[in-house]
Amino acid sequence: MTKICTRCLLKDFSKEQFEAIVINGLASLPKEDLVDNAESNRRLDVCKDCGKLNQGTCLACGCFIEIRASLKKGTCPYSKW
Ligand code: SF4
Repeated sequence: MTKICTRCLLKDFSKEQFEAIVINGLASLPKEDLVDNAESNRRLDVCKDCGKLNQGTCLACGCFIEIRASLKKGTCPYSKW
């Protein structure tokens, strides 16, 4: 039986899912709309300790969190970042 990890990011699930949703999704966006990796990782570290993270999505906003955390205009609905 596969264990469901509620505190995981998509990159922790399957390579195919991560590439299809996160890598391809971010590649389709203008680079000037994205934060650098350090800022994205800082945000994702906060999400990984948050009870609203559920299998790569935020239960508060429904977003794929690795996409939202990479956007300059991305915000946490609970103002955690
Ligand atoms: S965006 Fe905010 S509410 Fe959603 S998982 Fe991250 S820290 Fe939690």
